[in-house]
Amino acid sequence: MSMGRYRMLIGDRWVDGTGDSWITVDDPATEEAVGRVPAGSAADVDLAVAAASGAFDGWRWTAAGERAALLQKAAAKSEEHAADLLELLTREQGKPRSEQEEELEYAVSCLRYYAELGRSRRGTVIPSGEPRTQLNLVLREPYGVVGAIVPWNYPLLLLSWKLAPALAAGNAVVVKPSEWAPLATVEWIRRCFDHFPPGVINVVTGDGSAGRALVAHPGVPLVAFTGSVETGRHIASVAAPMMKRLHLELGGKDAFVVAPDADPSTAADAVAYAALINAGQVCTSAERVYVPSGLHDEVVAALEARVSSLRLGHGLEEGVDMGPMMGEPFRGKVERHIAEAVDRGARVVTGGRRPRDRDRGWFYEPTVLIDVDHDMAIMRDETFGPAIPVMTYTAFSDAIALVNDSPMGLGATLRSTDPVLVKRFFEEVKVGTVWINDPLTDNDAGPFGGMKLSGGARELGEQALDEFSETKHVHWDLSDAPKDWWYPY
Ligand code: NAD
Repeated sequence: MSMGRYRMLIGDRWVDGTGDSWITVDDPATEEAVGRVPAGSAADVDLAVAAASGAFDGWRWTAAGERAALLQKAAAKSEEHAADLLELLTREQGKPRSEQEEELEYAVSCLRYYAELGRSRRGTVIPSGEPRTQLNLVLREPYGVVGAIVPWNYPLLLLSWKLAPALAAGNAVVVKPSEWAPLATVEWIRRCFDHFPPGVINVVTGDGSAGRALVAHPGVPLVAFTGSVETGRHIASVAAPMMKRLHLELGGKDAFVVAPDADPSTAADAVAYAALINAGQVCTSAERVYVPSGLHDEVVAALEARVSSLRLGHGLEEGVDMGPMMGEPFRGKVERHIAEAVDRGARVVTGGRRPRDRDRGWFYEPTVLIDVDHDMAIMRDETFGPAIPVMTYTAFSDAIALVNDSPMGLGATLRSTDPVLVKRFFEEVKVGTVWINDPLTDNDAGPFGGMKLSGGARELGEQALDEFSETKHVHWDLSDAPKDWWYPY
């Protein structure tokens, strides 16, 4: 495949940027170049923010129905262009084609959801002190220019979760895709959002320095960011003195608890899926598995059978269950976590190495580890790769304590059909999303986000529309009569 050249969108023009610096994007399965994008600079960010600011006023006062129609059209175009977008996405990001299809379907569904919601949801009228002569309105109004900074693991999906509510709420947007996987995003905006008024959507490609310039720009009152805790901390430190609004979706260390009543074999299948989809590179990947001592051997045997049967390969090949990891630094972290755990006494049941039959690409065998504990990095820090550490517990209260023994609080899963355990679990775990029996399933109307270090933002649902708009209270006295509490007292 020849290497494509992709560009940035500033206002109504696709440009190479003001510098002469480019980022090459590789296929993680072959290490061959797929395309390149301009390495955007602070000057490019200035131009993009100026274009967005110029477009904001017109967009803000565009009828909600018209905004909805434009979002619906973007959804329809995304379906028309799906084949090309999915191939590009698979080449640059690596997950199997079926997982990419699901990503695009969810992104399209998100566009449609906010098209509908944006038409009908505005402010409220609240009771006034003098109901006959006064009106009190609570308005929601757009911020202006939203900076949307996205990671590489679900480039289109995570952008749709920001773009759709931000646009539906009347904001203009400057998008900064990840330098690891920006190509499908650029192509998606170019092909499927070209009917939006110029400047309403802008794209600045580049690495963290372009992201930093967007965060520091005084013309960007709201930064919506999905990425690591470390980057989130940096963004917060820059944004706080400027009193910017932050919408932060950060890392996770999600727990998966198998309850004593669960079927060990089905539980193992659910764990394998929750831990290994996208080669374990999901913010809500199951990264810690807790099983009752009595079920340990059965669950681990079923997990070993399932995990060792998975077929690794290029995401575009038929019959591939798991693709490569995104890049060398990410595989390196998984290897460090596993090596440290083994040093401290953990045992590898299956996997634990690079596949022998692949000399190119960032592949790593899906791995099951036992005899782990919370002193090991693999049970504390985000691994973000295909590793499944399994630990035993005795009482169900211990399992809940282990789930909560983490600085992160994104999601958690329980396998159980015992209503007493289920209720206790979802009430007591300190996370933003709880899955019972069906891990990692999103719902457009269901708020998604974390607690603790995972960041406090909520994407999706009505709440995200609120997060991309700010509140204004209007106290309106309809008469011109003077008030008896005015001077003189
Ligand atoms: P990352 O933090 O390295 O990068 C994310 C984005 O931020 C990229 O576009 C990057 O260029 C940009 N960036 C880097 N430094 C910046 C800075 N100083 N200022 C502004 N922008 C900067 O994360 P990643 O490796 O791309 O993604 C993986 C991480 O994302 C994991 O920690 C994962 O858990 C998290 N994640 C969270 C969610 C969620 O919804 N909570 C979803 C997906 C991924």
